Amino acid sequence: MDERELKDYWHGVLRALQPTIKRAEFLTWFGNTNAQSCEGGQLILAVPTMFYQSWINTKYLPLITAEAKKLNNEIQSVKVVVDSTLVGQKKESGLPPVRNNPPVDGGAAKGTQFSRKEIGGDMGELTSLNPRYTLDSFVVGQENQLAFAAAKAVANNPGEAYNPLFIYGGVGLGKTHLLQAIGNAVLSKNARKRVYYATSEEFTNEYIGMVQKKRASHFKEKYRNLDVLIVDDVQFWSRAEQTQVEFFHTFNALYESGKQIVLSSDRPPREIANLEQRLRSRFEMGMLVDIQPPLYETRLAILITKCQEKGHLLSQEILEYIANNSGSNVRELVGVLTSLLAHIDLQGKMPSLEDVAHLFERSMKPEKAVVPSSSGYGVSPIGHTLNEKDILNLTADEFSLAPDDLLSDVRKREILVPRQLAMYFMREELQLSFERIGEIFGGKNHTTVMHACQKIEEQIKKDKVLVKHYNAIKRTLR
Ligand code: ADP
Ligand code: MG
Repeated sequence: MDERELKDYWHGVLRALQPTIKRAEFLTWFGNTNAQSCEGGQLILAVPTMFYQSWINTKYLPLITAEAKKLNNEIQSVKVVVDSTLVGQKKESGLPPVRNNPPVDGGAAKGTQFSRKEIGGDMGELTSLNPRYTLDSFVVGQENQLAFAAAKAVANNPGEAYNPLFIYGGVGLGKTHLLQAIGNAVLSKNARKRVYYATSEEFTNEYIGMVQKKRASHFKEKYRNLDVLIVDDVQFWSRAEQTQVEFFHTFNALYESGKQIVLSSDRPPREIANLEQRLRSRFEMGMLVDIQPPLYETRLAILITKCQEKGHLLSQEILEYIANNSGSNVRELVGVLTSLLAHIDLQGKMPSLEDVAHLFERSMKPEKAVVPSSSGYGVSPIGHTLNEKDILNLTADEFSLAPDDLLSDVRKREILVPRQLAMYFMREELQLSFERIGEIFGGKNHTTVMHACQKIEEQIKKDKVLVKHYNAIKRTLR
Protein backbone atom coordinates (compact mmCIF):
# COMPACT_ATOMS: atom_id res chain seq x y z
CA MET A 1 0.00 0.00 0.00
CA ASP A 2 1.25 3.46 -0.69
CA GLU A 3 0.78 6.25 1.79
CA ARG A 4 -2.54 7.34 0.38
CA GLU A 5 -3.95 3.81 0.37
CA LEU A 6 -2.69 3.21 3.84
CA LYS A 7 -4.44 6.29 5.11
CA ASP A 8 -7.68 5.38 3.41
CA TYR A 9 -7.42 1.88 4.72
CA TRP A 10 -6.91 3.07 8.28
CA HIS A 11 -9.85 5.44 8.00
CA GLY A 12 -11.90 2.52 6.85
CA VAL A 13 -10.90 0.59 9.94
CA LEU A 14 -11.75 3.59 12.12
CA ARG A 15 -15.13 3.90 10.50
CA ALA A 16 -15.81 0.26 11.23
CA LEU A 17 -14.69 0.63 14.83
CA GLN A 18 -16.70 3.71 15.55
CA PRO A 19 -20.16 2.20 16.06
CA THR A 20 -18.80 -0.16 18.70
CA ILE A 21 -17.04 2.44 20.81
CA LYS A 22 -18.51 5.38 22.69
CA ARG A 23 -17.89 8.69 21.03
CA ALA A 24 -15.94 10.22 23.92
CA GLU A 25 -13.74 7.16 24.14
CA PHE A 26 -13.33 6.94 20.43
CA LEU A 27 -12.13 10.52 20.18
CA THR A 28 -9.88 10.02 23.17
CA TRP A 29 -8.09 6.95 22.01
CA PHE A 30 -8.26 7.14 18.24
CA GLY A 31 -8.15 10.86 17.54
CA ASN A 32 -4.38 10.81 17.26
CA THR A 33 -3.69 7.41 15.80
CA ASN A 34 -1.92 6.90 12.56
CA ALA A 35 -1.27 3.85 10.41
CA GLN A 36 2.48 3.89 9.95
CA SER A 37 3.11 0.98 7.67
CA CYS A 38 1.76 -2.31 6.50
CA GLU A 39 4.26 -4.97 5.62
CA GLY A 40 4.34 -8.72 5.73
CA GLY A 41 0.80 -8.92 7.01
CA GLN A 42 1.46 -6.65 9.96
CA LEU A 43 -0.19 -3.28 10.35
CA ILE A 44 1.86 -0.86 12.43
CA LEU A 45 -0.28 1.60 14.29
CA ALA A 46 1.34 4.69 15.80
CA VAL A 47 0.00 6.38 18.94
CA PRO A 48 1.33 9.42 20.84
CA THR A 49 2.50 7.96 24.15
CA MET A 50 3.19 4.73 25.99
CA PHE A 51 0.08 5.30 27.95
CA TYR A 52 -2.02 5.22 24.80
CA GLN A 53 -0.08 2.19 23.67
CA SER A 54 -0.83 0.16 26.76
CA TRP A 55 -4.42 1.31 26.93
CA ILE A 56 -5.11 0.45 23.31
CA ASN A 57 -3.29 -2.85 23.66
CA THR A 58 -5.38 -3.91 26.62
CA LYS A 59 -8.72 -2.52 25.63
CA TYR A 60 -8.98 -2.35 21.89
CA LEU A 61 -6.38 -4.50 20.17
CA PRO A 62 -8.59 -7.54 19.45
CA LEU A 63 -11.29 -5.25 18.10
CA ILE A 64 -8.87 -3.33 15.91
CA THR A 65 -7.29 -6.51 14.64
CA ALA A 66 -10.65 -8.01 13.77
CA GLU A 67 -11.74 -4.95 11.80
CA ALA A 68 -8.35 -4.62 10.15
CA LYS A 69 -8.56 -8.24 8.95
CA LYS A 70 -12.08 -7.80 7.67
CA LEU A 71 -11.06 -4.91 5.46
CA ASN A 72 -7.90 -6.54 4.18
CA ASN A 73 -7.47 -10.25 4.45
CA GLU A 74 -3.71 -10.03 4.08
CA ILE A 75 -3.44 -8.48 7.52
CA GLN A 76 -2.44 -11.02 10.16
CA SER A 77 -1.73 -8.82 13.13
CA VAL A 78 -1.64 -5.25 14.40
CA LYS A 79 1.22 -3.80 16.36
CA VAL A 80 0.95 -0.57 18.34
CA VAL A 81 4.04 1.62 18.50
CA VAL A 82 4.74 5.00 20.08
CA ASP A 83 5.37 8.00 17.87
CA SER A 84 5.93 11.00 20.07
CA THR A 85 5.56 13.44 17.18
CA LEU A 86 1.86 12.73 17.45
CA VAL A 87 1.79 14.41 20.85
CA GLY A 88 0.19 17.80 20.68
CA GLN A 89 -1.11 17.29 17.18
CA LYS A 90 -4.65 18.32 16.77
CA LYS A 91 -7.22 15.76 15.97
CA GLU A 92 -6.77 14.17 12.58
CA SER A 93 -8.89 16.27 10.31
CA GLY A 94 -9.56 13.29 8.10
CA LEU A 95 -11.30 11.43 10.88
CA PRO A 96 -14.45 9.88 9.51
CA PRO A 97 -17.67 11.63 10.38
CA VAL A 98 -19.35 10.36 13.48
CA ARG A 99 -22.18 7.94 12.84
CA ASN A 100 -25.76 8.66 13.87
CA ASN A 101 -24.73 10.60 16.95
CA PRO A 102 -25.36 14.30 16.56
CA PRO A 103 -22.35 16.48 17.22
CA VAL A 104 -21.94 17.15 20.92
CA ASP A 105 -23.04 20.71 20.54
CA GLY A 106 -25.21 21.18 17.47
CA GLY A 107 -27.69 18.35 17.73
CA ALA A 108 -28.71 18.75 21.28
CA ALA A 109 -28.86 22.51 21.05
CA LYS A 110 -31.65 22.15 18.54
CA GLY A 111 -33.57 20.05 21.00
CA THR A 112 -33.19 22.70 23.62
CA GLN A 113 -34.70 25.29 21.37
CA PHE A 114 -37.69 23.10 20.83
CA SER A 115 -38.13 22.64 24.51
CA ARG A 116 -38.25 26.40 24.86
CA LYS A 117 -40.80 26.74 22.15
CA GLU A 118 -43.03 23.98 23.35
CA ILE A 119 -43.38 24.87 26.94
CA GLY A 120 -41.25 27.91 27.50
CA GLY A 121 -43.93 30.50 26.93
CA ASP A 122 -46.28 29.11 29.50
CA MET A 123 -43.79 27.91 32.03
CA GLY A 124 -42.51 31.28 33.10
CA GLU A 125 -38.76 31.13 33.55
CA LEU A 126 -37.62 28.00 31.87
CA THR A 127 -34.28 26.56 32.72
CA SER A 128 -32.97 25.40 29.42
CA LEU A 129 -30.80 22.36 29.08
CA ASN A 130 -27.13 22.91 28.57
CA PRO A 131 -26.27 21.27 25.23
CA ARG A 132 -22.78 20.43 26.48
CA TYR A 133 -24.19 17.81 28.79
CA THR A 134 -24.68 14.74 26.67
CA LEU A 135 -24.42 11.04 27.25
CA ASP A 136 -21.65 10.95 24.69
CA SER A 137 -19.53 13.44 26.56
CA PHE A 138 -19.90 11.56 29.83
CA VAL A 139 -16.87 9.45 30.65
CA VAL A 140 -17.88 6.13 32.06
CA GLY A 141 -15.83 4.48 34.76
CA GLN A 142 -16.57 1.79 37.22
CA GLU A 143 -17.74 4.39 39.77
CA ASN A 144 -20.53 5.78 37.63
CA GLN A 145 -21.33 3.03 35.15
CA LEU A 146 -24.56 1.96 36.78
CA ALA A 147 -25.86 5.52 36.91
CA PHE A 148 -24.83 5.97 33.29
CA ALA A 149 -26.50 2.77 32.15
CA ALA A 150 -29.70 3.73 33.95
CA ALA A 151 -29.62 7.23 32.44
CA LYS A 152 -29.18 5.75 29.00
CA ALA A 153 -32.02 3.29 29.46
CA VAL A 154 -34.30 6.08 30.63
CA ALA A 155 -33.30 8.31 27.74
CA ASN A 156 -34.10 5.51 25.28
CA ASN A 157 -37.41 4.57 26.84
CA PRO A 158 -38.70 7.42 28.95
CA GLY A 159 -41.46 6.32 31.30
CA GLU A 160 -40.77 2.68 30.61
CA ALA A 161 -37.32 1.72 31.83
CA TYR A 162 -36.98 2.92 35.38
CA ASN A 163 -39.45 5.26 36.95
CA PRO A 164 -38.49 7.32 38.79
CA LEU A 165 -34.77 7.31 38.28
CA PHE A 166 -33.08 8.67 41.36
CA ILE A 167 -29.35 9.41 41.12
CA TYR A 168 -27.41 10.37 44.20
CA GLY A 169 -23.81 11.14 45.02
CA GLY A 170 -21.38 13.80 46.24
CA VAL A 171 -20.76 17.24 44.82
CA GLY A 172 -19.19 17.54 41.39
CA LEU A 173 -19.52 13.90 40.45
CA GLY A 174 -21.69 14.34 37.38
CA LYS A 175 -25.29 14.19 38.58
CA THR A 176 -26.37 17.36 36.84
CA HIS A 177 -24.48 16.26 33.75
CA LEU A 178 -26.37 12.97 33.60
CA LEU A 179 -29.75 14.52 34.34
CA GLN A 180 -29.37 17.10 31.62
CA ALA A 181 -27.96 14.49 29.27
CA ILE A 182 -31.16 12.51 29.67
CA GLY A 183 -33.17 15.58 28.75
CA ASN A 184 -30.96 16.33 25.75
CA ALA A 185 -31.06 12.75 24.55
CA VAL A 186 -34.85 12.52 24.75
CA LEU A 187 -35.19 15.77 22.83
CA SER A 188 -32.67 14.89 20.18
CA LYS A 189 -34.61 11.73 19.44
CA ASN A 190 -37.94 13.43 19.48
CA ALA A 191 -38.08 17.18 19.57
CA ARG A 192 -41.83 17.10 20.30
CA LYS A 193 -41.36 15.62 23.74
CA ARG A 194 -41.99 17.99 26.57
CA VAL A 195 -38.94 17.83 28.74
CA TYR A 196 -38.48 20.06 31.69
CA TYR A 197 -35.40 20.40 33.83
CA ALA A 198 -35.47 22.37 37.06
CA THR A 199 -33.40 22.54 40.17
CA SER A 200 -35.38 21.85 43.30
CA GLU A 201 -35.19 25.54 44.19
CA GLU A 202 -36.51 26.57 40.83
CA PHE A 203 -39.40 24.21 41.24
CA THR A 204 -40.12 25.65 44.68
CA ASN A 205 -39.81 29.24 43.56
CA GLU A 206 -42.01 28.69 40.60
CA TYR A 207 -44.60 27.03 42.72
CA ILE A 208 -44.59 29.83 45.27
CA GLY A 209 -44.77 32.40 42.49
CA MET A 210 -47.78 30.72 40.92
CA VAL A 211 -49.55 30.42 44.24
CA GLN A 212 -48.99 34.09 44.90
CA LYS A 213 -50.36 34.98 41.49
CA LYS A 214 -53.27 32.67 42.18
CA ARG A 215 -52.33 30.56 39.22
CA ALA A 216 -51.75 27.35 41.10
CA SER A 217 -54.08 25.37 38.88
CA HIS A 218 -52.20 26.62 35.86
CA PHE A 219 -48.97 25.44 37.41
CA LYS A 220 -50.47 22.01 38.05
CA GLU A 221 -51.76 21.65 34.58
CA LYS A 222 -48.48 22.58 32.99
CA TYR A 223 -46.39 20.28 35.09
CA ARG A 224 -48.71 17.41 34.61
CA ASN A 225 -48.51 17.75 30.86
CA LEU A 226 -44.83 17.01 30.72
CA ASP A 227 -43.33 13.87 29.24
CA VAL A 228 -40.18 14.04 31.26
CA LEU A 229 -39.75 15.96 34.49
CA ILE A 230 -36.23 16.31 35.82
CA VAL A 231 -35.59 17.84 39.22
CA ASP A 232 -32.02 18.32 40.40
CA ASP A 233 -30.79 18.38 44.01
CA VAL A 234 -34.00 17.48 45.79
CA GLN A 235 -32.17 17.37 49.13
CA PHE A 236 -33.00 21.07 49.32
CA TRP A 237 -36.63 20.20 49.84
CA SER A 238 -35.87 19.25 53.42
CA ARG A 239 -37.65 22.25 54.75
CA ALA A 240 -40.06 23.01 51.96
CA GLU A 241 -43.16 21.23 53.19
CA GLN A 242 -45.64 22.83 50.82
CA THR A 243 -43.42 22.06 47.89
CA GLN A 244 -43.20 18.46 48.98
CA VAL A 245 -46.98 18.20 49.04
CA GLU A 246 -47.27 19.77 45.63
CA PHE A 247 -44.54 17.64 44.18
CA PHE A 248 -46.13 14.53 45.61
CA HIS A 249 -49.26 15.21 43.57
CA THR A 250 -47.30 16.14 40.48
CA PHE A 251 -45.31 12.96 40.86
CA ASN A 252 -48.40 10.79 41.13
CA ALA A 253 -50.09 12.40 38.17
CA LEU A 254 -47.04 11.98 35.96
CA TYR A 255 -46.29 8.52 37.18
CA GLU A 256 -49.80 7.27 36.61
CA SER A 257 -49.82 8.48 33.05
CA GLY A 258 -46.51 6.75 32.39
CA LYS A 259 -44.40 9.87 32.23
CA GLN A 260 -40.77 9.84 33.22
CA ILE A 261 -39.46 11.40 36.42
CA VAL A 262 -35.76 11.84 37.07
CA LEU A 263 -34.36 13.13 40.33
CA SER A 264 -31.00 13.74 41.92
CA SER A 265 -29.76 14.39 45.39
CA ASP A 266 -26.48 14.49 47.24
CA ARG A 267 -27.68 11.61 49.42
CA PRO A 268 -30.16 8.72 49.24
CA PRO A 269 -33.82 9.49 50.01
CA ARG A 270 -33.72 7.90 53.43
CA GLU A 271 -31.02 10.34 54.49
CA ILE A 272 -32.85 13.47 53.41
CA ALA A 273 -34.02 15.09 56.63
CA ASN A 274 -37.69 16.00 56.87
CA LEU A 275 -38.65 14.30 53.68
CA GLU A 276 -42.25 13.17 53.92
CA GLN A 277 -42.50 9.42 54.24
CA ARG A 278 -44.86 9.03 51.30
CA LEU A 279 -42.56 11.07 49.09
CA ARG A 280 -39.57 9.04 50.17
CA SER A 281 -41.30 5.81 49.28
CA ARG A 282 -42.11 7.25 45.84
CA PHE A 283 -38.47 8.18 45.34
CA GLU A 284 -37.40 4.69 46.26
CA MET A 285 -39.83 2.75 44.16
CA GLY A 286 -38.00 3.07 40.87
CA MET A 287 -34.29 2.88 40.26
CA LEU A 288 -31.97 4.18 42.93
CA VAL A 289 -28.34 4.50 41.83
CA ASP A 290 -25.34 6.22 43.28
CA ILE A 291 -22.26 7.77 41.75
CA GLN A 292 -19.01 7.24 43.58
CA PRO A 293 -16.00 9.54 43.35
CA PRO A 294 -13.84 8.60 40.34
CA LEU A 295 -10.70 6.63 41.03
CA TYR A 296 -7.39 7.27 39.33
CA GLU A 297 -8.17 5.53 36.03
CA THR A 298 -11.45 7.32 35.54
CA ARG A 299 -9.89 10.63 36.48
CA LEU A 300 -7.25 10.04 33.85
CA ALA A 301 -9.83 9.09 31.25
CA ILE A 302 -11.83 12.24 32.05
CA LEU A 303 -8.72 14.38 31.65
CA ILE A 304 -7.85 12.80 28.33
CA THR A 305 -11.38 13.20 27.05
CA LYS A 306 -11.56 16.84 28.08
CA CYS A 307 -8.21 17.53 26.44
CA GLN A 308 -9.46 16.05 23.23
CA GLU A 309 -12.68 18.03 23.37
CA LYS A 310 -10.61 21.17 23.70
CA GLY A 311 -8.21 20.11 20.97
CA HIS A 312 -5.17 19.73 23.22
CA LEU A 313 -2.97 16.81 23.97
CA LEU A 314 -0.92 16.91 27.14
CA SER A 315 1.94 14.57 27.90
CA GLN A 316 1.21 11.39 29.73
CA GLU A 317 3.41 12.59 32.58
CA ILE A 318 1.36 15.73 33.11
CA LEU A 319 -1.97 13.97 32.84
CA GLU A 320 -0.87 11.36 35.31
CA TYR A 321 0.39 14.03 37.64
CA ILE A 322 -2.97 15.80 37.62
CA ALA A 323 -4.91 12.57 38.00
CA ASN A 324 -2.69 11.60 40.89
CA ASN A 325 -2.80 14.85 42.74
CA SER A 326 -6.32 16.02 42.24
CA GLY A 327 -9.13 15.21 44.55
CA SER A 328 -12.00 13.21 43.21
CA ASN A 329 -14.34 16.08 42.50
CA VAL A 330 -14.71 16.12 38.71
CA ARG A 331 -15.63 19.78 38.66
CA GLU A 332 -12.31 20.66 40.31
CA LEU A 333 -10.44 18.23 38.13
CA VAL A 334 -11.81 19.84 35.00
CA GLY A 335 -11.24 23.29 36.50
CA VAL A 336 -7.55 22.60 37.02
CA LEU A 337 -7.23 21.26 33.51
CA THR A 338 -9.00 24.27 32.03
CA SER A 339 -6.72 26.74 33.74
CA LEU A 340 -3.71 24.72 32.71
CA LEU A 341 -4.83 24.71 29.08
CA ALA A 342 -5.51 28.45 29.22
CA HIS A 343 -2.02 28.88 30.59
CA ILE A 344 -0.55 26.85 27.75
CA ASP A 345 -2.44 28.90 25.19
CA LEU A 346 -1.08 32.08 26.72
CA GLN A 347 2.49 30.83 26.94
CA GLY A 348 2.37 29.11 23.60
CA LYS A 349 4.41 26.16 24.84
CA MET A 350 4.14 22.94 26.78
CA PRO A 351 4.80 23.44 30.47
CA SER A 352 7.28 21.29 32.35
CA LEU A 353 6.01 19.01 35.06
CA GLU A 354 7.32 21.52 37.57
CA ASP A 355 5.34 24.37 36.03
CA VAL A 356 2.28 22.20 36.25
CA ALA A 357 2.94 21.34 39.86
CA HIS A 358 3.26 25.01 40.61
CA LEU A 359 0.12 26.03 38.82
CA PHE A 360 -1.69 23.14 40.32
CA GLU A 361 -0.71 24.11 43.85
CA ARG A 362 -2.15 27.54 43.43
CA SER A 363 -5.42 26.63 41.82
CA MET A 364 -6.22 23.32 43.36
CA LYS A 365 -5.35 23.00 46.99
CA PRO A 366 -6.13 25.97 49.13
CA GLU A 367 -4.44 25.51 52.44
CA LYS A 368 -6.72 23.95 54.92
CA ALA A 369 -5.83 23.88 58.56
CA VAL A 370 -8.79 21.77 59.47
CA VAL A 371 -9.06 18.11 58.67
CA PRO A 372 -12.10 17.59 56.48
CA SER A 373 -14.68 15.55 58.23
CA SER A 374 -14.97 13.24 55.25
CA SER A 375 -11.64 11.68 56.18
CA GLY A 376 -13.31 10.38 59.27
CA TYR A 377 -11.76 12.27 62.11
CA GLY A 378 -12.26 15.98 62.52
CA VAL A 379 -10.97 15.76 66.05
CA SER A 380 -8.20 13.36 66.89
CA PRO A 381 -7.68 11.50 70.17
CA ILE A 382 -5.05 14.11 70.91
CA GLY A 383 -7.99 16.29 71.91
CA HIS A 384 -7.74 18.99 69.27
CA THR A 385 -7.97 19.21 65.53
CA LEU A 386 -5.11 17.32 63.99
CA ASN A 387 -2.22 19.53 62.95
CA GLU A 388 1.21 19.18 61.37
CA LYS A 389 2.96 18.91 64.78
CA ASP A 390 0.89 15.84 65.62
CA ILE A 391 1.88 14.20 62.39
CA LEU A 392 5.52 15.01 62.98
CA ASN A 393 5.45 13.67 66.54
CA LEU A 394 3.51 10.54 65.74
CA THR A 395 5.71 9.69 62.79
CA ALA A 396 8.89 10.29 64.76
CA ASP A 397 7.52 8.14 67.58
CA GLU A 398 6.68 5.30 65.29
CA PHE A 399 10.28 5.15 64.06
CA SER A 400 11.82 5.91 67.48
CA LEU A 401 13.27 9.13 66.20
CA ALA A 402 13.13 12.70 67.47
CA PRO A 403 10.90 15.12 65.57
CA ASP A 404 13.98 17.21 64.91
CA ASP A 405 15.53 14.30 63.04
CA LEU A 406 12.67 14.47 60.59
CA LEU A 407 13.14 18.19 60.18
CA SER A 408 16.87 17.88 59.61
CA ASP A 409 18.64 17.51 56.28
CA VAL A 410 20.12 14.12 57.07
CA ARG A 411 19.69 11.85 54.08
CA LYS A 412 20.23 8.50 55.73
CA ARG A 413 17.56 6.07 54.69
CA GLU A 414 16.42 5.44 58.30
CA ILE A 415 15.51 9.09 58.50
CA LEU A 416 14.70 9.91 54.91
CA VAL A 417 11.83 7.46 54.62
CA PRO A 418 10.09 8.51 57.86
CA ARG A 419 10.52 12.14 56.76
CA GLN A 420 8.90 11.38 53.43
CA LEU A 421 6.11 9.56 55.19
CA ALA A 422 5.46 12.53 57.46
CA MET A 423 5.29 14.77 54.39
CA TYR A 424 2.90 12.35 52.79
CA PHE A 425 0.58 12.37 55.79
CA MET A 426 0.56 16.14 55.94
CA ARG A 427 -0.48 16.14 52.34
CA GLU A 428 -3.08 13.40 52.68
CA GLU A 429 -4.52 14.20 56.05
CA LEU A 430 -4.24 17.97 56.22
CA GLN A 431 -4.37 18.75 52.51
CA LEU A 432 -1.42 21.10 52.96
CA SER A 433 0.16 22.41 49.78
CA PHE A 434 3.55 21.05 48.72
CA GLU A 435 4.95 24.51 49.33
CA ARG A 436 3.64 24.71 52.85
CA ILE A 437 5.01 21.27 53.66
CA GLY A 438 8.36 22.34 52.22
CA GLU A 439 8.35 25.30 54.59
CA ILE A 440 7.60 23.11 57.58
CA PHE A 441 10.58 20.95 56.70
CA GLY A 442 13.02 23.82 56.79
CA GLY A 443 12.39 25.50 53.47
CA LYS A 444 12.52 22.55 51.12
CA ASN A 445 11.51 23.00 47.52
CA HIS A 446 7.94 22.01 46.71
CA THR A 447 9.17 19.56 44.09
CA THR A 448 11.14 17.72 46.78
CA VAL A 449 7.94 17.31 48.72
CA MET A 450 6.09 16.28 45.62
CA HIS A 451 8.63 13.58 44.87
CA ALA A 452 8.56 12.43 48.48
CA CYS A 453 4.80 11.95 48.29
CA GLN A 454 5.03 10.12 44.99
CA LYS A 455 7.80 7.93 46.35
CA ILE A 456 5.71 6.93 49.35
CA GLU A 457 2.76 6.21 47.13
CA GLU A 458 4.91 3.88 45.05
CA GLN A 459 6.69 2.22 47.95
CA ILE A 460 3.51 1.57 49.81
CA LYS A 461 2.49 -0.76 47.05
CA LYS A 462 5.50 -3.02 47.52
CA ASP A 463 7.24 -2.39 50.84
CA LYS A 464 5.55 -4.44 53.57
CA VAL A 465 7.53 -2.90 56.41
CA LEU A 466 6.57 0.56 55.29
CA VAL A 467 2.93 -0.47 55.12
CA LYS A 468 3.12 -1.65 58.71
CA HIS A 469 4.44 1.74 59.87
CA TYR A 470 1.97 3.53 57.68
CA ASN A 471 -0.96 1.64 59.18
CA ALA A 472 0.30 2.13 62.72
CA ILE A 473 0.53 5.89 62.27
CA LYS A 474 -2.82 6.04 60.57
CA ARG A 475 -4.41 4.15 63.46
CA THR A 476 -2.97 6.56 66.00
CA LEU A 477 -4.16 9.51 63.97
CA ARG A 478 -7.60 8.13 64.18
P1 ADP B 1 -22.91 17.35 40.33
O1 ADP B 1 -24.21 17.76 39.75
O2 ADP B 1 -22.88 15.91 40.75
O3 ADP B 1 -22.45 18.25 41.44
P2 ADP B 1 -21.91 18.05 37.72
O4 ADP B 1 -22.78 17.22 36.87
O5 ADP B 1 -22.22 19.49 37.79
O6 ADP B 1 -21.80 17.44 39.19
O7 ADP B 1 -20.39 17.83 37.23
C1 ADP B 1 -19.36 18.78 37.43
C2 ADP B 1 -18.56 18.94 36.17
O8 ADP B 1 -17.83 17.77 35.92
C3 ADP B 1 -19.40 19.18 34.93
O9 ADP B 1 -18.73 20.08 34.11
C4 ADP B 1 -19.49 17.83 34.28
O10 ADP B 1 -19.63 17.93 32.89
C5 ADP B 1 -18.16 17.22 34.65
N1 ADP B 1 -18.26 15.76 34.81
C6 ADP B 1 -18.60 15.09 35.93
N2 ADP B 1 -18.56 13.77 35.75
C7 ADP B 1 -18.16 13.58 34.47
C8 ADP B 1 -17.91 12.43 33.65
N3 ADP B 1 -18.04 11.20 34.14
N4 ADP B 1 -17.52 12.63 32.38
C9 ADP B 1 -17.35 13.86 31.90
N5 ADP B 1 -17.56 14.99 32.59
C10 ADP B 1 -17.96 14.86 33.87
MG1 MG C 1 -25.45 19.31 40.31
